[in-house]
Amino acid sequence: MSSKVTIVTGIQVESTSTPATNSAISAGLSVTDVRKDYPTPAEPLVVLRGVSFSLAAGERVAIVGPSGSGKSTLLNILGTLDEPTAGQVTLDGVNPFSLRSKALAKFRSEKIGFVFQDHHLLPQCTALENVLVSRLAFGNVSDADAARGSELLKDVGLEGRATHLPAELSGGERQRVAIARALMNRPRLLLCDEPTGNLDTRTGQAIGELLIRLATESQAILVAVTHSPALASMFPRQMGMVDGRLT
Ligand code: ADP
Ligand code: MG
Repeated sequence: MSSKVTIVTGIQVESTSTPATNSAISAGLSVTDVRKDYPTPAEPLVVLRGVSFSLAAGERVAIVGPSGSGKSTLLNILGTLDEPTAGQVTLDGVNPFSLRSKALAKFRSEKIGFVFQDHHLLPQCTALENVLVSRLAFGNVSDADAARGSELLKDVGLEGRATHLPAELSGGERQRVAIARALMNRPRLLLCDEPTGNLDTRTGQAIGELLIRLATESQAILVAVTHSPALASMFPRQMGMVDGRLT
């Protein structure tokens, strides 16, 4: 079979006659027997009791479960904001917890986008500046960055709102800015923790549709934690979480 160059996660690899090359296997998100305990003066509080799943590029999944079941803990571990007590996470073949702190910060910034229940926008910055905030942190914003930021604001339906401050936007609009910000660095993994939790039903549905459309277009893996059956039903795949285990 002729050898052809394919792009897997930004790395050029020679494809072979076997589709399941190592690169193909490692692309995407892989979670293996992840456990998380928090120490307490008595016995450790066990929050995740062995979570395993894998998602390919472009897969979209909703995680639903009662409060306190460990959903945010899992999302924080997938986002490398918290370390598992045991088990393994790899994103595009890289175990982020094997990286030193500077490399881990770079990995997180380049590979992962976050949308939280609260928008966490900087109140003194405009919508566009909030979208560009990850670039501002590293120095000057290029013309190409600014153009991408404007394009993203257009994608989320906020054309003409670039110079508005968060206080001048509605809750749904603020969440749209947060989504544009999360997509700025073209993440491979988009993590959303109750992204519609502060929104009314109709606005929440529009935000859910937007997240799913933009993640699909960019072939990012989308993992959203939600209490909302309406939001969860928009996803092609749902996973339940009960008492630290996926159901
Ligand atoms: P969910 O998002 O499903 O509501 P969480 O993942 O936030 O649940 O929390 C699961 C459990 O872990 C809760 O009992 C919570 O109190 C506990 N927990 C979360 N974070 C910490 C922490 N930093 N220290 C101690 N316990 C924690
Ligand atoms: Mg939570």
